[in-house]
Amino acid sequence: MLEIGTQTHPLPHQDALYILLHRNQVLVESENQFLTPFTHFQPNSKMSAIYCGKWHGQDIFVCRFESIPKGFSEMGLRELLFLQDQHHYILLSRAHQLSTWDRDHQFCGRCGSPMKERHPAEHTKICQTCNLRHYPRISPCVIISIRKGDQILLARGPQAPKDRFSNIAGFVEAGETLEQAVAREIREEVGLEVTNIRYVSSQPWSFPHQLMAGFFADYESGDITPAPGEIEEANWYSIDDLPNIPNSATISGQLINLHVEHIQKTKSN
Ligand SMILES: [Zn+2]
Repeated sequence: MLEIGTQTHPLPHQDALYILLHRNQVLVESENQFLTPFTHFQPNSKMSAIYCGKWHGQDIFVCRFESIPKGFSEMGLRELLFLQDQHHYILLSRAHQLSTWDRDHQFCGRCGSPMKERHPAEHTKICQTCNLRHYPRISPCVIISIRKGDQILLARGPQAPKDRFSNIAGFVEAGETLEQAVAREIREEVGLEVTNIRYVSSQPWSFPHQLMAGFFADYESGDITPAPGEIEEANWYSIDDLPNIPNSATISGQLINLHVEHIQKTKSN
């Protein structure tokens, strides 16, 4: 399990393990092997390694490569994440998010100065000119499984495969609570009002830096009205007759499975 800690970050060293990225792909020596010992690749002087924490007593760093080192091949982040258990999922998500933050915050957003200094013990960049602190960006999103009797609502976005249905989800707006975001997203995307909104669980989703907060809600009123351009199709599905739903490694798949279990339990009581 990953220990994040608050100690001073070590510099890259030979006994650490490394997660190597190339663009948005992960470099692996063999399938699913994303933790690479120092001696297996040639670190170059321009390489920017970021400390991610301790993993079973070993320091972990993430670094980004300009080209693919010999002996490695690329694997898509999504594909690789879906193969992981929960602890490896968190480690890989964190490494990717920290590296993306480092790459995308090269200059101060307030004064435009280059951001070369990192805080020694936190993932923080402090502008040497205006003192503004820059933290890794985390974007909260809500994702909701909605129940109406023995049915749940599933929707398909314009980009999704024709037979793939999922939950309603969206970004939290500035100044909004999670519960307000739940009610607003459902109203905007499918025109329904819900009640009994309750939190279930969360999952980091590094595409590129969302934190998905999962909820259940109960139908209150309205007819399904898909928002043009956002939702292609949305329907109530009986839990005995579900369409193709997301992988259970995703919070979306987990919410649906858990909701189905709850409904089955209340049906049998
Ligand atoms: Zn600045």
